[in-house]
Amino acid sequence: MPAISAGKVLVTGANGYVAAWVVKALLEQGFAVRGTVRSDSKANHLRSLFKSYGDKLEFAIVNDIVKEGAFDEAVKGVDAIAHTASPFHTHAEDPSELIVPAVQGTVGILSSALKHGSSVQRIVVTSSCGSILEELPVPKTFTEADWNERALREVETKGAAASAADKYCASKALAERAAWKYWNDHKGEVGWDLVVVNPSYVYGPILHEVDKPEHLNESMRMFYDAAVAGTYDKDMLNWGSSWIDVRDLGLAHALAVKTPEAGGERIIVSQSVFKLQDFVNVAHRLYPQLPAGDTDFNPATAVYFQAYDTSKVRKLFGIKLHTIEEMVKDSLEDFKARGWIQ
Ligand code: NDP
Repeated sequence: MPAISAGKVLVTGANGYVAAWVVKALLEQGFAVRGTVRSDSKANHLRSLFKSYGDKLEFAIVNDIVKEGAFDEAVKGVDAIAHTASPFHTHAEDPSELIVPAVQGTVGILSSALKHGSSVQRIVVTSSCGSILEELPVPKTFTEADWNERALREVETKGAAASAADKYCASKALAERAAWKYWNDHKGEVGWDLVVVNPSYVYGPILHEVDKPEHLNESMRMFYDAAVAGTYDKDMLNWGSSWIDVRDLGLAHALAVKTPEAGGERIIVSQSVFKLQDFVNVAHRLYPQLPAGDTDFNPATAVYFQAYDTSKVRKLFGIKLHTIEEMVKDSLEDFKARGWIQ
């Protein structure tokens, strides 16, 4: 059960929303970090944010994770890898726009680690609860045994006409399956093992560089549109799933690198169910100038469809998770400090 308690961790897509918190958690746990970014200028913000860590943080340029051998140089000399880079957006026409980078990026880093990562002992792949959940007409508590077969079928049969959510979920399910297959096919040849982290929707304050709300990552843009801009109708405000605080997810990645027993595990990382209106209610209470949203919403009668069994992550990592109050409050304080809330 390889895992590391010290050394250097490669974090892919380091300038992303989740990855910036992964970098922070790893540095705080005493690791050195090499982050990949598409161009050197994309590293400047993180360099300045973490300057107190000096040469414990360095960067490598990987301008397209799809390219053959993209990670061949970046994996050299690292002890573990956290692969977070993957597209998450809702504007893909053809599903391949998401599926190709998700799958090839994942297989690419594993094969670079096989060929050039002689010191690598553990690889953590950021998958998603999107590869687990299925849109069902009845509520369900999903476990690590579930796979989103429905999204895979939808994308296979409908192609570009599949929903944006199904295209994204299929990209994550296919990438995760490819990771497990690669590891099973090659585990006799490598000195590392594989951990897959499956977060639900991720919310919470921002560390990475964002100049305006329109440029927020997908999940936090939804949060902003619901709680601050007030651009969602009742149907959208009554949409929900399950969520996790980005700070807890960052820490979960660091613990996935460190915890021997996590090897070979698929791990759901999730706090609890939500509807966007639950976030709006907390936000409106804290900042009465923000929209009230759907004032008819009653959390006691709302139906929460996608819950998760989180016994594995609690047993393995025992993280005290941020509450909805803390997540909303800290996200709004972050927005306020950026001048996005008057
Ligand atoms: P971001 O969009 O903030 O970050 C994605 C990162 O991946 C960016 O650094 C981006 O680089 C990089 N990237 C994407 N495509 C490529 C490519 N072709 N070549 C090089 N780099 C690329 O997303 P999140 O932080 O939200 O997501 C991070 C991970 O977490 C993803 O794997 C996502 O599926 C997963 N996840 C996210 C959830 C959420 O709610 N946010 C929920 C569950 C899982 P650049 O910025 O330069 O384009």
